[in-house]
Amino acid sequence: MEIHVLQTGTVRVKQFQLTGANSTISRFYQLMFTQKWSEWMPIYCWLIKMDDQLILVDTGDTAKIYQEGYLPSGGLYHKAVETRIKKEEEVSYQLEAMGVECSDIKTIILTHMHGDHLGGMYHFPEANFLVSRKEYDFAVSKKGPGSGYFKKNWPSSFQPQLIDYKQRKEGVFDESFAFDDHEKIVIVPTPGHSLGHQSVIVKSESTSYFIGGDLTYNLETLRSEVPNVVLPNKEANQSVTKAHEYVKANDCIYLSAHDWNVLRILEERLTYQQFLKSIET
Ligand SMILES: [Zn+2]
Repeated sequence: MEIHVLQTGTVRVKQFQLTGANSTISRFYQLMFTQKWSEWMPIYCWLIKMDDQLILVDTGDTAKIYQEGYLPSGGLYHKAVETRIKKEEEVSYQLEAMGVECSDIKTIILTHMHGDHLGGMYHFPEANFLVSRKEYDFAVSKKGPGSGYFKKNWPSSFQPQLIDYKQRKEGVFDESFAFDDHEKIVIVPTPGHSLGHQSVIVKSESTSYFIGGDLTYNLETLRSEVPNVVLPNKEANQSVTKAHEYVKANDCIYLSAHDWNVLRILEERLTYQQFLKSIET
């Protein structure tokens, strides 16, 4: 089993999303009225090479964002997030460079349905997508477009398999969804960043990986349990606490979707604890 990281452009958000903020009012003020942006961060998705199949977790963003009408022209969206991506940075090109054809990917697990995680999905008309039912139902509801879900951009081939978690314990998580018979890939609900956000645990012989999507921006914010949210919510805090406990207890390699450190973490196969130690010394 191997995990590879694919970068599909960069993104920046208002700085408070990384570092946290004291109050909802402070967050709202910074969101609406300041230009306090974070640094540009990568937009990652993941290729998992199992013995018998290739699986993608998320699909990254798309250069279609520059087409007229693809993104809303005003509103909250542009106050909260900015993305940069070239056509040749899309996931299809990244896979090709690794000798993988898009049609080789039969399964794609989405951590959630924000544009920088599903923009590349039109490259995979044949693939089976797995999305949490809560996330999908919200995305297609009336509230979707105001919350960063743009159904009009989804390809007509997109008919995802909706996940209902089972009463199956996975460490501190009471519910989970085992993707394969050997339970090497397990999906756990980590709501908060979005209503139906989920994380993907991948177990290899030597170590476990916790693909946290947008749960936290990086390992340091996992350590301080600062969730990646625009507005605070209890679910996000609970999810981050659980993920933190799981990652520590299982000595996982923790992977976030927007953390430059991931390159070194994967290259040196650093678990969460090893990585934190490495930046202390
Ligand atoms: Zn997101």
